[in-house]
Amino acid sequence: MMNFHSIILIIYILLSFTKSFNITPGILDIKENKISHRRRIEEEGNEREEEKNKFNPIIIGYDYSQFDSDNDINETIKDNIKQLLEEVKDKFQTILSVKHKNVSVSQESLNELIETRCKINITLSNETYENIKEKNDITIFPVFEDFNSEKECENIIKGYYCLLTRDKFPKGGVLKIKKNINFTKENSYKNIKYILFHQMTHIFIFEPNLMKSLDMVKDNQVITEGLKKIARNHFNCSKFTEDDDFGLPLETDGYHWDSRYMLGDYMISFDYYDKTLSDLTLVLFDDSGLYNVKNLYGKYFNFGKNKTCSFFDKKCIENDDITFDEFCIKENEPKCSQSRINKGKCYIQNYDEDIPEKYNYFNNSKGGIKQMEYCPVSNESNYFFSSNCKNNNGLANKIYGEKYGNNSFCFISSLTSNDSNVLNNDESICYEVECDYINKIIIVNVNNTQINCYEGNDTISNPSGFIGNLTCPKYNDICDKNINDTCTDMFDCIRPEFGRDNIFDDEDSYKFIQINILLIFIFLFIL
Ligand SMILES: [Zn+2]
Repeated sequence: MMNFHSIILIIYILLSFTKSFNITPGILDIKENKISHRRRIEEEGNEREEEKNKFNPIIIGYDYSQFDSDNDINETIKDNIKQLLEEVKDKFQTILSVKHKNVSVSQESLNELIETRCKINITLSNETYENIKEKNDITIFPVFEDFNSEKECENIIKGYYCLLTRDKFPKGGVLKIKKNINFTKENSYKNIKYILFHQMTHIFIFEPNLMKSLDMVKDNQVITEGLKKIARNHFNCSKFTEDDDFGLPLETDGYHWDSRYMLGDYMISFDYYDKTLSDLTLVLFDDSGLYNVKNLYGKYFNFGKNKTCSFFDKKCIENDDITFDEFCIKENEPKCSQSRINKGKCYIQNYDEDIPEKYNYFNNSKGGIKQMEYCPVSNESNYFFSSNCKNNNGLANKIYGEKYGNNSFCFISSLTSNDSNVLNNDESICYEVECDYINKIIIVNVNNTQINCYEGNDTISNPSGFIGNLTCPKYNDICDKNINDTCTDMFDCIRPEFGRDNIFDDEDSYKFIQINILLIFIFLFIL
């Protein structure tokens, strides 16, 4: 008996060691804050409160030494990027809290780690060295370099962590920015901000080795406690909490969500016009144990919402018809994005290569986006936010009574004023909306006339004063969250006042820790 357990324990220890050897980045030693254990025991009652208080908004530091000294890049571009980096930093600080830990490392070995692990050529200033050791939770080195893009998301900027503490906290990371970056395209400022946010998320948590070493990933699916709860609610699929092996799928290389299930979240592998920050991504930060996400801010992520477990079992097109309204089948048919923030069309393209048999829905070389298992969805290729209903500069289609603005959402409509006497085609149109929370009505404002979408009402035909049809969205797709909290984009939605109550029951997690400690004692006792 004794021997058997000892062997198990030795195997476990060996396995733990091999696991930590897998991590290639530079390992930094944490300098423990001196907290007397006796004091902690004496104040056991207050300990939980103290634990909570130890989380403080994350301190992100940028080291601009290489960035500033690169003479190839013009100053305006540098200023623009710096401005964006500050904005991105502010957003992360709003969402994430961490327990700060100082690290002990000599300046010489830190320089060496930065050269060998971060693969950038800089000499640390004394100031940055001190900041990495004491002040910053994470230090990021933005550098200009023409690197090879291995992934689609790395077209302009590539982010990776390179310094880890022994408890796997990413202490340092690099943002490589291509030298030909420019801000000439319309809305590129906004677009680059999204890219920075995406790449910094790769540095913070969304990286396969890091997630694996934190036991968050199994068979290329994320299976963590918080995620399971949120996914269960979002998809209305109880398998997430009932089946231990059922998680949210990642793309094959593990760097992004599988967009077939997570289209529109900012952590998919390609640039999609509908960008949202889902609670499912936010909860990963929390589930990692490295960060504390006090409140979740995700909004407008409607892809797969309430589509039940069959969203994961069924194909997007079966028997020549779509299985869920996320998908479409008629090329260029008007189609709103799933968040209903953007107008779009059913996107189907021609492929040169053969489409795999099981995804070949049209029996020819046509299909939707490849990463989406070729499922056709709403898209807009020439976008740069011009089809965004919240974009006040949008060119309104007057005939349809279209209106852009903060409270506008996309509808499929052919409504025109009945004195025009012309029956129009369905288009995706932005209308201003109000929510009647008591009677569950979406009140749609068309040319200053209010048209009510009652729940369960799919299409409204020829309402008074108009000819044509208005297709009603589901009440919850627009009105489930307080519409007064209307935010215009993913970034705007990250505001402290939008934070919802933490869905995690602190009592539960406390019990979980207690049970774990109990199990360890039982284990030791048997030994
Ligand atoms: Zn990426």
